[in-house]
Amino acid sequence: MSQPRVKHFLINEKYEDPGIFIEVPQTGDYILFDIGNIYKLDRELIKKITKVFITHTHMDHFIGFDTLLRYKLGRPHTVEIFGIDPLAHNVYSKLQGYTWNLVEFEPQLIFKVKQLKGSMFESFEFDIKKKFSKDFIAEEKVDSNIIYEDKVYRVRFAPLDHKIQILGYSFELKDRVLLKKDKVESLPLKGKEIGEFKSFLENQENRDKTFKIGDKEYPYDFLFEEFAYIQKGLKISYITDVIYSPENKEKIINLVKDSDYLYCETVFLDRDKEQAEKVYHLTTKQTAEIANLANVKNLIVFHFSRRYGKNKDIVINETKKFFPNVS
Ligand SMILES: [Zn+2]
Ligand SMILES: [Zn+2]
Repeated sequence: MSQPRVKHFLINEKYEDPGIFIEVPQTGDYILFDIGNIYKLDRELIKKITKVFITHTHMDHFIGFDTLLRYKLGRPHTVEIFGIDPLAHNVYSKLQGYTWNLVEFEPQLIFKVKQLKGSMFESFEFDIKKKFSKDFIAEEKVDSNIIYEDKVYRVRFAPLDHKIQILGYSFELKDRVLLKKDKVESLPLKGKEIGEFKSFLENQENRDKTFKIGDKEYPYDFLFEEFAYIQKGLKISYITDVIYSPENKEKIINLVKDSDYLYCETVFLDRDKEQAEKVYHLTTKQTAEIANLANVKNLIVFHFSRRYGKNKDIVINETKKFFPNVS
């Protein structure tokens, strides 16, 4: 059966600023996880970005906000940014680093920030028409580990320790009900009725109901079996800038469990594990152990320390010793 169409890739070389890009054609979303240097991305692609999920605002994860701002100017757009306090303050400070006296002629550009603060989510809005003043919109109690959700996908988070609190993320494309087109064509259903038929099958709560085709009623299970199938979703996780502690390990494994793709930092070789602990980062062996325990299918490593130069293979090959399916 067909695979879901979702494009995802690392933005930079493994020894450069971290960050991944995900395109979701079903919703028209262009998503970044972290926004370090993004000059490698095509300018037209940057203009399309709709959402940015940020782990934390150390410079290598946030300096690309200026590039995003620059390419977003000149047309009406809303960009949603997610992360952890003090993200809203950091976004505000960046925006206030420029002078905005001629903005009445600019199309409306809005940045919306949703940040975790303690046990609350806080939302702010920064509108170019108001010279990007920091407008508090709402707060809500956090009652799950979901920071964003729509009909097509959700993004879960976990607060992790990097000497400051940062967020790890999991992007989950939901399972989809699709119709077996050639079979459905043989039914006496017209345009709108096919839509109703699909909606009926999409809703699990209809399992003990029937659907009328022609002048006969058919049970849900029979119709599903004959005319529909499930396209499995996809789980892509993104973890970077964490110390190898029992607490972090447990939280990461819970979050990224059974990921199809885990993008995870591997900053140091095993021989440099003291340094890794000092600066709150992971080694090859530690990253591989997490991938193994979380039953991940594909591991993509990045955020290599500059001490290994541009020699990517030295880090990838060592990770491979502990977890085979790594790139
Ligand atoms: Zn950091
Ligand atoms: Zn970093």
